[in-house]
Parts: sequence; structure tokens; C-alpha cells
Amino acid sequence: MELANILFPKVTLTMNDMEERYPKRNLPQGAFVTRIGPSPTGFVHLGNLYNAIIAERLAHQTGGVFYLRIEDTDSKREVEGAVSTIIDAMAYFDVNFDEGAVSDGDNGNYGPYRQRQRAEIYHVFAKWLVEQGKAYPCFLTEDEVQKIRDEQFENKENPGIYGKYALKNRSLTLDEVKIKISNGEKWVLRYKGEENNDRIVVDDAIHGKLEMPRNYQDFVILKSDGIPTYHFAHVIDDHLMRSTHVIRGEEWISSLPIHIELFKDFGWEHPIYAHTATLMKMDGASKRKLSKRHDPELALSYYQEEGISKEAVWEFLLTLLNSNFEDWRVENPKTSYKEFPFSIDKMSSSGALFNLDKLRDISKNVISVMSANEVYEKLLSWCKRYDEKYFVLLTKYKERMIKALNIGRGGEKPRRDLETWKQALEFLSFYFDETFKIEDEMPLECDKELQNNFFKSYLETFNFDDDAITWFEKVKELTRKLGFAEKPKDYKKNPENFKGSIVHITNMLRIALTGRVNAPDIWEVTHALGEEMTKERLKKWCE
Ligand code: GLU
Repeated sequence: MELANILFPKVTLTMNDMEERYPKRNLPQGAFVTRIGPSPTGFVHLGNLYNAIIAERLAHQTGGVFYLRIEDTDSKREVEGAVSTIIDAMAYFDVNFDEGAVSDGDNGNYGPYRQRQRAEIYHVFAKWLVEQGKAYPCFLTEDEVQKIRDEQFENKENPGIYGKYALKNRSLTLDEVKIKISNGEKWVLRYKGEENNDRIVVDDAIHGKLEMPRNYQDFVILKSDGIPTYHFAHVIDDHLMRSTHVIRGEEWISSLPIHIELFKDFGWEHPIYAHTATLMKMDGASKRKLSKRHDPELALSYYQEEGISKEAVWEFLLTLLNSNFEDWRVENPKTSYKEFPFSIDKMSSSGALFNLDKLRDISKNVISVMSANEVYEKLLSWCKRYDEKYFVLLTKYKERMIKALNIGRGGEKPRRDLETWKQALEFLSFYFDETFKIEDEMPLECDKELQNNFFKSYLETFNFDDDAITWFEKVKELTRKLGFAEKPKDYKKNPENFKGSIVHITNMLRIALTGRVNAPDIWEVTHALGEEMTKERLKKWCE
């Protein structure tokens, strides 16, 4: 008791006060309370989104609560502005929190939602552990800890503070502690690990039954600045914030014995754990973890900057998460992914295989079934942030853009030519004089003189109001007149009889109008560009 007061002279609140401050949530039965706990390192990981999607779906499918807690206990890794980066990335992907950290504070009754601001809360519980004789101050300096590590390495012993290595600090008398503290010696609070043959058994929602030896280490609860380690903060926060499920990466499985033991000490039920598989990728014939250094797609900023739509990323992650998602998608092609009945039972415990090509493919599908207006709005909102030039153009030429986006949309087999917002702008660039350029060469079969002839005659008979059939009849007639084959196969059979085929003629038109051989239907493009622009572009080829 006295030791506890020496270590925590300012703590007057009790555990009961905390229980009252953060009462049990009043939610319908079966409602999940979930969270993500990213660290503000400036790098928001695809894994953060992967776990966020699971947690968000589970909470919102059950009428529960999903919140954001900023795990900033490691101030050395913290980067300025990182909290905003997290909030912003989650907003981009439409991951909506019911409560938690917001850019200028907190939203909700279970805060603060930034761990460093919760120091005094942790101290109440740390003090109680000291009173119970379960925790003690340790005055080992970093150098001393390192020396012990080296010695253990030499002796091939397990690293850490336990057994004989913990003895000295565990057995300090009250007076010794007082003197050290008054001398200004720094201390950390360690948990008294117990060495015996107990096993910890946990039923993980993804992995099933996990069984492992209990913890025997005197792990750190509070660091010398009074800020908790992840382990301690996790237990206190998830209890007080009333999380029912903890969805986190499987790298935390090995720390489970510590967490379970702490929950037991406090007499609390632990939440249900769901440890998610690490994201892997194929590298040649073998699988490996995605790495920060080699795989730009590991950062959420990659998707934002490339303009990969949130819908595509969600759909892709859902296919990784629930094996039945793809079948569901085929059966419900028009339904929002949010209607998919996500289930934690269908998650696999083996590494989730990430595949950028698959994501791109999904992305094409996702955009192909959107309406032209929807694509326009999404494109515009992406440009607003990432491409000022196109933001201006899209705003100015809205009507033209919507016409252009409508080409090949809405039917049974919609065009799948848009993949990301960045690529879409590139693709649509020819619709604006400001960005239009001739990218491909005119066909060899059509020399300058022929080009001149063709475009002049084309313009003479051109009527903007012709329907697609009439228009094509005119093109065919001109093709014949110029000595080209109306049917490509006739040209193939007897090339000596023709100067070329209709393919060369239409390619000339495509290049003149769009700058490229690979472009959407000419008649459609003409009508998106409008009469004036079309004529302007064609006239440039007549001398
Ligand atoms: N801050 C931890 C991490 O970034 C969160 C783990 C958890 O969700 O409990 O890995």
C-alpha cells in the first residue's frame, strides 16, 4: 500500500470511479463494439484498412459501435499530422466511425481516444496492481537491460527480465525505493511474471482454440514517462471502452498470455479476439509478406494518390476476407458491397494473398457499372484534391464529360476502359482541347495527299445530325471512292487491288479526333465532342 502511494502520490481515483465513468454500453443484445487502434506513425497501412473493414462491418451489421482509438504510446515513432492522415485515409475509404478521435478532439463518451491523454486513467489501474503486489518499480537503466540481454544471448538463455534477472529490483525495500526516487532515478513499472506450467487457452474467432504457455516475464506496464506499453493500454482501454471484439493482426497472438493474465487479475472478461492473417503477395513462385520498402501498395496513400476507388478496394478486400463474396457479387451485380452479409466465421486463418492485378480487374468492373453521373462526381472529387488542372476542366465541360462517360455504359456488356481516376483522366484527356494531343501516327497506307483528300471530302458530306447508320454508310462510300476496301477481309485477300482498307480510313478519323488508334466509337465520340470541336479537329488535316 505504501509503495503504491510512493509511486502514485497523485492518484486518488479508484477502479470503481473508472467503472462509473465508463459504464457498460446500453446496446441491443448481440451488438458488437469494435475499434481500430492505429499508431500515428505517418504511414497508414493496408492492414489498417483490412482490419477496419472487418471491425466496421461487424459493428454496423449488428447495430453496435465502431470507434477509432489513436495508439500513440510510442512517442518516438510519432509523426506530426499523422492523426489527420489516419482520419483522412479512413474517410477516403468511407470507413465511418461512430465515435473516437476526430481531427480536433474527440467524439464520444468513452474518451479521451488518444492514449497519451489517458495517462491518469492507466495510473489508477497500475496503482492497484502495485497494491496487490503484482507490479513493482524497476530501476534498471537501458544500458543495464542491454547488458543483461547480451549476457543472456551469450548463455543462450531467453531474453528479458525474469527470474534471477528480476530479483534485485523485485526485492528492493521501501526505503531503498524512496531513496532512489528522491535521487531522481528513473523507473518503469514491471508486472511480476510467474513461472509455472500453466497454459493459457483462448478461443480465437478466426484461429479457433489457441493454447500456449503462460507468461513468465516481468514485462513493462508503464514506461519511465508514465505512459503505458501497448499491452497495458490495450487491456485497460478495451475494457473501459467496452470493446466486445478485438480485431488485430496475428503478430499479437504471441502476446496473448500477457493480455489474458491482466484481464484475469482485474477480474474482467476479456473481449473476443480475432487475429487476422498477414497480407502476403506472390513473388515469383513463393509467397512473402508485403513490405514497406518494396511494395508501394502497402500504404493507403498509394490508393488515394492513384485514385483507386474506395469501392474497388472494399470489393477486393471483401473477396480476400470472405470466400463467398465473389459468388454473392455475381448473383447481386448491382447491390452495394455494404449489403453483403459479412461473416467472421468465413475468414481464413492462412495468409491473405494480395494481388494488384486482381484489384485492377475488380476496379474496372466496379466503375463499368456506375452511371456516368456517378463516375463524373467521383472523378471530380478526386481531382479536387489530386489534380487541379483536371478539376478546372471537368467543372468547365461537365456536359461534354457526362456525354463522354456515357459511351458504352448501361448495356449488358459495359465498356471496361476505366480503371483508376488517374488513368481515367489520361484516357479522357482528348475531350479537352487543353489536353488533347496526337499520340499515334497516321497509317502508312494514307499519305499526306490522301489524308488531305479524305478529310476534305469527309467534311463536305459531314452532317452532325446523321444517325450512326447513315454516318457509317457515308464513310463506306468515301472508302470505296478513295480506292480502299470496304471490308477488311477483301483487302486481306487481294491487297494488290486496294490502297488499304476501311480500318485505315477509320483509324485516320480516330487519330484526328482523339489522337489515338485505340479510342471509343467514332460516331459516339463525335457527339460527345460536339459539331464545332469535331470540325475544328478535322479541318487541321486539310491543307
Ligand atoms: N496499435 C496497434 C497496432 O498498430 C493496434 C493493435 C490493436 O488493434 O490492438 O498494431
